[in-house]
Amino acid sequence: MSDRKIYTAEAWPEDEVWIIKVPAIEHGACVTEAATPEEIEPMARDFIAVMCDVEPDSFILEIVTPKYPPAKDGIYPRCVWCGGENYVLGVLHYSRGEAACAAHSGCGRMLPDSYRAKD
Ligand SMILES: [Zn+2]
Repeated sequence: MSDRKIYTAEAWPEDEVWIIKVPAIEHGACVTEAATPEEIEPMARDFIAVMCDVEPDSFILEIVTPKYPPAKDGIYPRCVWCGGENYVLGVLHYSRGEAACAAHSGCGRMLPDSYRAKD
């Protein structure tokens, strides 16, 4: 079944829940939530099934979660997703959510909103 479509879901902790974003759906504008890490996969499958009008078990699902938790100071020399080292000038932009991961062979993901320093 190598012709099955592959969807990627990004999931990160935010307050008491896990936010699930599927970039393939409306450019990631819609998100859903899971109460526990165990619920991420079934919630993501249901979400994709409803939004894309496909059967929940008809596709391959890849779940990506951050490697690192939120930093107390809100500064991220390394991408929380791939662990790649951001260029010096990119660290602040990445940490403010203004630029995507630009690490060498980085993942191109943005810092989750909830990871930013609260000011
Ligand atoms: Zn990255």
